[in-house]
Amino acid sequence: MELNLFNTQSRQCEAIVLEPQKPFKTYCCGPTVYGPAHIGNFRTYVVQDVLVRLLKLLKVNVCYVRNITDVDDKTIRGARQNNQSLQEFTTYWTQRFHNDCERLNLLPPTVEPKATETIDDQLALIQLLMDNGYAYARNGSVYFRISACKDYGKLSHLNERELQTQDLNSAEQANDADEYERDQIADFALWKAYKPEDGTVAWNSPWGRGRPGWHTECSAMTHRYLGGTLDVHSGGVDLVFPHHENEIAQFESAYKVPFVKHWLHIAHLRVNGQKMSKKLGNLYTLDSLQEQHYEPSTVRYALIAGHYRKPLNFTFENLNAAQSALHKIYAYTQTLCKQLSVDFANLPALLQQATLPDHLQWLQPFFDALLHDDLNTPKALGCLFSFMGQHPQLSLDEAKTVFPEWLAVLYALGIQPVEQRISIPADIQELAEKRWQCKCSGDYQAADNLRKALMDKGWRVLDNAQGYRIEPL
Ligand code: AMP
Ligand code: ZN
Repeated sequence: MELNLFNTQSRQCEAIVLEPQKPFKTYCCGPTVYGPAHIGNFRTYVVQDVLVRLLKLLKVNVCYVRNITDVDDKTIRGARQNNQSLQEFTTYWTQRFHNDCERLNLLPPTVEPKATETIDDQLALIQLLMDNGYAYARNGSVYFRISACKDYGKLSHLNERELQTQDLNSAEQANDADEYERDQIADFALWKAYKPEDGTVAWNSPWGRGRPGWHTECSAMTHRYLGGTLDVHSGGVDLVFPHHENEIAQFESAYKVPFVKHWLHIAHLRVNGQKMSKKLGNLYTLDSLQEQHYEPSTVRYALIAGHYRKPLNFTFENLNAAQSALHKIYAYTQTLCKQLSVDFANLPALLQQATLPDHLQWLQPFFDALLHDDLNTPKALGCLFSFMGQHPQLSLDEAKTVFPEWLAVLYALGIQPVEQRISIPADIQELAEKRWQCKCSGDYQAADNLRKALMDKGWRVLDNAQGYRIEPL
């Protein structure tokens, strides 16, 4: 069995051979826990989740590590601003993150290490780099010497010119920041000497008290929990440089084995053409969207409705479309269950045991799009809707053969169908009532405008002899 996936390093789609017995090692850079995760962050985790779900369906022995970054420049600043200890501050945001993951039906990683729990591993990594001439200490900090790493830049394809302008061989220029741009390439900090702003956040090291750099954390955690070469390492596209470039440099210089076979990077979720980010303040969270009656399941669907390598624009039209698509999938599931006398309440248990049937009769194109076309979720969803359109009604025998394939589809997408007992939000009910009043009083223009407003919010009004009915689009 093979999976075709684009590899950032080679810039082409490559086949990953899946061997069920062999552990499949995958690492995804987890959240920095200094505030609510926004749905842009979750685009990355949802795509990684679909990948893990596919592998599990294929009975691959997946070991999935996603870390928690609970010490870095941003968490320390956040804790100080809130007058909390680093631990109190990051524990709170970690719990909030876990709560969101559950609402999005993300599978928990096999291991979820925290950076602060692996300081010894990080110190051992730095020591190894020092011993082998890849790092140097200065004023209590330790820096990675980029000039000692001959293929530095191979992931982000930094060209010769960019590297030469830094004059790295002669100057040992050091950069203390965790995050920086391409034009600020310099020896980066593996260990940062204690500063008064760090408050009580410090550990002892052979180079003095201080704390690790962000890049050091991930390399030490991948090595600790996954050992040698990883099969797939993922993250948002903003992590290609410098974070992943630095992870490669550290890991390969220290352990002398290739770090990663396959790099998977997820394009950004945007708002009006700009990256959704805490820095720009243009973010939406699961909570803020739920206040507007959008369920996390709708957000999840909207996040996979676009291909992961293309930037996705966040719009309420997309959310409404996701809501309506999900309702159709739920309704189809409900019909199948009824036909086969499957108790709807048993679906979660059935989904947990879902596997990919050896011979697909109905939904092969759906899985082909995911497995052989670079995790092409929009194409797969297209195949799913074509299937539903072509088979609105199934015979009992047909339903029996479709059902296991259907369960595999739901599992791959992380869709947890809910019974279609529609609950109408109060604001929708109010708009519908207003529209009915306008219609009854002969103000058809206002009634039409209100019907359109309801459509924009994802609801259709159906008039009948008794009055009206509303249903999701
Ligand atoms: P952070 O918590 O900032 O370390 O980010 C966690 C993950 O979310 C990283 O893999 C980022 O690359 C990713 N990420 C951040 N913003 C976005 C966005 N707007 N769209 C998609 N992924 C993002
Ligand atoms: Zn990382």
